[in-house]
Amino acid sequence: MKSDRNRADRSQRTPRGGAILLELKSAAFGYGKRPVISGVDLSVRTGDFLGIVGPNGAGKTTLLRGMIGQLKPLGGTVRFTPISGRKPVLGYVPQIQVLDPIFPVTAGEVIAMGAYPRLPRIRRMAQAERAFLAECLDQVGMKASGGRLFADLSAGQKQRVLIARALMTKPDLLLLDEPTSGVDQAAEAAVMRLLADLNSEGLAIVLICHEMDTIRDNVREVVWVNRGRIEQGSVDEMLSPGQIEEHFER
Ligand code: ADP
Repeated sequence: MKSDRNRADRSQRTPRGGAILLELKSAAFGYGKRPVISGVDLSVRTGDFLGIVGPNGAGKTTLLRGMIGQLKPLGGTVRFTPISGRKPVLGYVPQIQVLDPIFPVTAGEVIAMGAYPRLPRIRRMAQAERAFLAECLDQVGMKASGGRLFADLSAGQKQRVLIARALMTKPDLLLLDEPTSGVDQAAEAAVMRLLADLNSEGLAIVLICHEMDTIRDNVREVVWVNRGRIEQGSVDEMLSPGQIEEHFER
């Protein structure tokens, strides 16, 4: 996606400077005892918009799963900086394919799942939570669609519902795995606009995306994942023609 709006925004992007939310030091992640990536030194700060790029199978999802604690590090450390004495809340948007399309839930029910960690065991939503759910639906531009079956939504609408579910957790950091894969160009633009707005309101975002233009137009920092290693730097530095050629063509 290449909107003029985003190009204009890019020049106004501020350098990083927020407090560290999450820091990985010499971390290794993989399956069984075999690391897929190792020597990972990476930080996410408040206000960051970080794009994770790299060839297929390089370990991008593995890195994201390590960052959210789904995979324990095989070495090194993953450390969160407490916010007001508590661990930062992570909102995770998985790849859309991992959701069972046959399960008959409505968009509203999918979003409500985001509130489960803070609800009592019987999971009845109080009025305030229901109002917040409506707010999250509205925020992703799906105000009138809470009662629609999730399976009946378009790919772009499903992505927005999944983002709303993550927003329902009241996250300090939003992590998304290929949120624009399988959606048409207009829906991709809408998803990226939504993420840019959330970021400008202060939400830190980490995003895996294989579309270089989308990354270039939206994020503030880039992380390359390739050949078992990662490299983090500014958009201009990391997405120079030489870097892209090195990672994709050698
Ligand atoms: P990417 O997201 O960059 O496409 P992944 O992180 O999905 O890459 O995969 C990196 C490597 O880890 C691949 O070789 C893949 O086959 C392997 N892998 C991914 N998930 C698993 C798993 N659950 N068990 C074993 N190996 C896996």
